[in-house]
Amino acid sequence: MSGESSKGHHKQWHDHGGTVLSSVNGFDVIDCAECKFKHVIPIPTEEELEKAYRHEYYTQEKPLYLERYRQDLEWWNTVYTRRYELLEQNLSDGARSILDIGSGPGFFLLNGQQRGWRVKGIEPSIEAATHSQKLGLDVENIFFSEETAPTLGTFDVINMGEVLEHIPAPADLLKLAHSKLNVNGLICIIVPNDFNPFQEALEGHLGFSPWWVAPPHHINYFDFPTLAGLLAHCGFEVLHQESTFPIDLFLLMGDNYVGNDALGRACHTRRMNFEKAMVQSGRGDVLTKLYTGFANQNIGREVVMFARAVK
Ligand SMILES: [Zn+2]
Repeated sequence: MSGESSKGHHKQWHDHGGTVLSSVNGFDVIDCAECKFKHVIPIPTEEELEKAYRHEYYTQEKPLYLERYRQDLEWWNTVYTRRYELLEQNLSDGARSILDIGSGPGFFLLNGQQRGWRVKGIEPSIEAATHSQKLGLDVENIFFSEETAPTLGTFDVINMGEVLEHIPAPADLLKLAHSKLNVNGLICIIVPNDFNPFQEALEGHLGFSPWWVAPPHHINYFDFPTLAGLLAHCGFEVLHQESTFPIDLFLLMGDNYVGNDALGRACHTRRMNFEKAMVQSGRGDVLTKLYTGFANQNIGREVVMFARAVK
């Protein structure tokens, strides 16, 4: 792995500067003093990224993605139902419209539509957008931008799952999302929880390379405090935060699934079994409490954050 020599040193790129945490594929992850979250330098351009997302994502990088999504759909629906329940607890009775930015194959929106929500999605992947349209969903094959935002109307909720880590200027995107929310509107953000304590133990103590550093697809590397800070900076008040399952726990326990797809799938299946058992036995509330506790320790594979737009 090249770039080891710059780790731990300060590095500057235009207005962005900070300590180098990792160096992969010609990119350095810095703890940026300007942005107050971790991201790679150099930051890829919109043009470089657009090409990647229109075609590569589902067809090349994740060929099994849709097939596995369908296999896991019963579990995904328990995740989505819990998310809608949390949103509904924080909205007035009539407020049931949602825009999903980066709506993927559409199953999250389908769950909402079946609960009586008015749903809309935008999705840059042609394959995923077409799949959503075949499910009968209102999903457009566009990016969320200054140009497209005025055509979309306003919403009670904006969901962004696995989006902000890919965006060159996430603060601009969040401010734009803020402008599309109704009064008392909510945003739900899901991003990877990177450089978390379990990963640091794996890298520092057990000799793992930082497999979660994945430029150019992953530009930003958030955790609970830095995402909360960015949301506050963009005009949001955080209402609730929780983690997803700390899948990296399997690595600490000795199941090294990095680069081992079959073992990764087996670990993921155990996690799904655990969560389905809790929800189907009527104790989904325990998951909420457990994952809120993990979030408070910055543990868990992903950050899930619900925030209200301050208007
Ligand atoms: Zn920066």
